[in-house]
Parts: sequence; C-alpha cells; structure tokens
Amino acid sequence: MNHSETISGVKFFSRKEIPLEMHKVKVVQQLQLVPVERRLQAIQEGGYNSFLLNTRDIFLDMLTDSGTNAMSDEQVSKMFVADDAYAGSQSYDKLEKSIKEVLGKKLILPVHQGRAAENILSIAFVKEGSILPMNYHFTTTLAHIQKNGGNVVELYKEEAMKIKSNHPFKGNMDCLRLAELIKKEGRDKIPFIRMEASTNLIGGQPFSMKNLKEVRAIANEFDIPLVLDASLIGENAYFIFKREKEYENSSIAEILIEMCDQADIVYFSARKLSSSRGGAICTNKKELYDKMRDLVPLYEGFLTYGGISIREIEAMAVGLKETIREDVVGQSPAFIQYMVNELDKLSVPVITPGGALGCHVDAKQFFPHIPQNEYPAGALVAAFFLVSGIRGMERGTISSTRDINGNEILADMELMRLALPRRLFTLSQVEYAIDRLHWLLLNRDIVGGLRFTEEPPVLRFFTGRLEPVGDWPQRLIEKFKKDME
Ligand SMILES: *Cc1c(COP(=O)(O)O)cnc(C)c1O
Repeated sequence: MNHSETISGVKFFSRKEIPLEMHKVKVVQQLQLVPVERRLQAIQEGGYNSFLLNTRDIFLDMLTDSGTNAMSDEQVSKMFVADDAYAGSQSYDKLEKSIKEVLGKKLILPVHQGRAAENILSIAFVKEGSILPMNYHFTTTLAHIQKNGGNVVELYKEEAMKIKSNHPFKGNMDCLRLAELIKKEGRDKIPFIRMEASTNLIGGQPFSMKNLKEVRAIANEFDIPLVLDASLIGENAYFIFKREKEYENSSIAEILIEMCDQADIVYFSARKLSSSRGGAICTNKKELYDKMRDLVPLYEGFLTYGGISIREIEAMAVGLKETIREDVVGQSPAFIQYMVNELDKLSVPVITPGGALGCHVDAKQFFPHIPQNEYPAGALVAAFFLVSGIRGMERGTISSTRDINGNEILADMELMRLALPRRLFTLSQVEYAIDRLHWLLLNRDIVGGLRFTEEPPVLRFFTGRLEPVGDWPQRLIEKFKKDME
C-alpha cells in the first residue's frame, strides 16, 4: 500500500488510518486551558450543567455542532456582497438556485432555524390526535408535534438501541411496523411520515437508500406524504456512498438528489448543514407549499429572508454547494470514526460504528455503579469537564422530562455526546480528548451521581441546576493533580 490512500476524497495515512484535514487554518481564535481548580469552581457556578458554563472556562467546546462549524473562505467572502433587501433580494435567488441544484427542490420557504421549520410543518399538517411515524424523534420535532396535539411513533429497528454494533444503517425505519401502523390507525390520521437523516439522538446514525425507498413505496401505497429532516443529510449521503455497495460509484451530489427525490417535503436546519444560521422547507408540490406559505411571514419574516440576515443567506447558498464535495462532507465523519475507533481500542464504551456530528460515550457502562436516577450521563459530562476542560452534552435522563405524575422517565440511553463541529478541531485536539477520557475511565470509581437543586418543569436540561451526591468532584481533582504532576 502507498503511504497514503484516498478514501472518498478524505485522505488517510495507510499505517494508522489518520484522517487528514483537507483545509488549512486562515483565521484563528486563541484558546485557554484554565487550571483544574478554576474548572471545579466553574462547574459549581454552573450547577453541574454544561449548558450553564461560559466559554471563558472551556478549552474545547464539544457541546454541539449547531451554529459552531467552521466556515470556508468563500462563504465568508460572499457575506460581504450580500444584497440587503426586505423583499426580492438577489442573495435569496442564489439560495433558491443552490437548493434546486443540491436538493432538487424548486419551491422554498426560508426559516430562521430548524425548529422554525418544524413549527410551520406542525401547524400546517398536525391536528389533535394525529399520528406521526418516524425513524426516531428529535427534541424540537417532538415538542412541536405534541404542541399541536400529535403523537409521535418511533419505528426504529432493534439495532438502533445497541451501543456496540457494526450495523452500517442503524437509522433505518422498520417498514413492516410502518405498514402495520398505517393499517391499524388508518391513513387519515397520519399527516406525514418523517425520516431523519443521520438520526441525531441515536448517535448520528444514517439510514440506507434502500430503506428510504422502501418507506417511499409504503408512502405511495397509502398516499401519505414523506417528510425528510435533512439537517444532517450531507453525512448520511456520505455514509450511503461509503457503506451501501450499490452507491460506491455514485457521487455525493447524485446521492443527495436521489435521497431528496424520495421525499415530498425536505426541511433542514442550516446551523448544521451549511452555515451558522437559517433553515428552509423545500418541496416540488405546489399544494403542499401553499399550505405552509402564509405561515412564513407570520412567524419568520418575508418570503425572501425568513427571519435570517441576508449575509447568512449568502453563506447558506455557498455552504450547500460545498456539501456535495466528498472531501468537505467526509471530514467530520472521518474524524469521528478515528475517535470512535481509538476509544473502542481503549475499552471506553462508545456507540459504534461512528456516525455523524460527534462521538457518543455510553455512561451506563462507563459508570456501572451510578444508578440511572442519579444521572450517570450528567455526571460523566461534569467529570470529563473537570479533567479536560472539554464541554460535552448530556443526552440521557436529564434531557428527558418527568411524566404527568412527576415520576422520572429513565431514558433509553445515557450518553455523553462530544460533538465535532465540521472542520473546527485538529487531530491533536481529538487525541487530547481521547487521552483524558481514558484517564477518567481508569479512575471512574471516584465519580458519583448528581441530584437536582433547581428543576424547571420544561426543558430542564437547558437551565436546571444540580449538585454532586457526595464530595467526588474534590476527590477526583486531587487524584487528577497527583497523576498529572
Ligand atoms: C438541530 C436539529 C433540528 C433543529 O434545528 P435548530 O436549528 O437547532 O432549531 C432538527 N432536526 C435535526 C435532525 C437536528 O439535528
């Protein structure tokens, strides 16, 4: 084998499978790693909730890939030529052209972010008692559907919930159950079927084109619209290219078009897909477009800016076109795959295979001694921040809500997500994260659970405050200082 080999545009060194950055740094932001004592103070001030930390205390921010991706020089330069206008902006024409080219849809409604698209879709199509089948929910999707009286039914396959797996498409929908559900409930109760690309909450796991086409066939049979949440579509297309044999000779551009062709409505959050703000709902069906159109000026802004700055519209238009490049869209999955593989070798429990948007550590296995009602994933995020200065996100029981009787609903999975925003971090920063996580694993017995001191009734994970059960944070940093001397 040669020294290096090109795998779908992203280069890897042959010996260690090191993914290479196919871009160079042109503008930087200085970072600082504050002392561990300050990190302890910071997490105490933030109520052991990583959403309440300030970036001045954070070394690497792996909270999310939303609105934090690096932009290209072309995106930034285009922001300077933005054609500011309330109505009829030429920048908006460029966005329309890009969407047509990349996603193959010609009727477009711009919105300020992904959840705004979900608000409009839900108001337009969801009614009291509606049933919404999907491969898996996303937090904001579920909230908007429920707000309009709808019920979400998740039709994922068994594999989706397995932490360790080599299934290439854990985001697939169970089509047998879909057909059964429609027959049982009747098509009239189902305003649309929703498929989410690179299914976020189960670890950024993709579905296959074959599965998407099977879902399409059922949608046709019962005449139900198919809606595609395309916020993470670039990576899903990349995984189809890499993992689905029939597509190994296709381009990412062809795969993207074929995916979008299956759906009647495609919507996305551009915070992940192409810029740092924005989103859109797209379709080729005039009757569906007409049901949503008037909601945009009501909730978002006029039809040619949708509540976002024209500069962001320019950045979105360019970013979408960059999505079809393998060496752009493959960067984040390649880094995630590397991180997942290395952690797996060190016996750190992570979701495999690597997916999109980040690396997901299984806190149940990491801390078998912490009961689920003491929030192992929340404890992992806090402990990891203490020993690394890296901010992750809790995706477990803290992120769910209590039932109407106030009982805790234990989440399916207790995860710490370490997001790798696109083109943001270097491989040595990823190595640092791996090293600190490994240290924490070796010292996991010290770490205990958390309990709420302030618990808001809605979306408690954003603003809730907690405290440690016992004095484990002090003991953890003492051991850490001793080992680091
Ligand atoms: C982020 C995200 C959303 C919501 O988008 P926002 O821009 O954060 O409102 C919806 N669906 C998926 C799959 C997402 O990842």
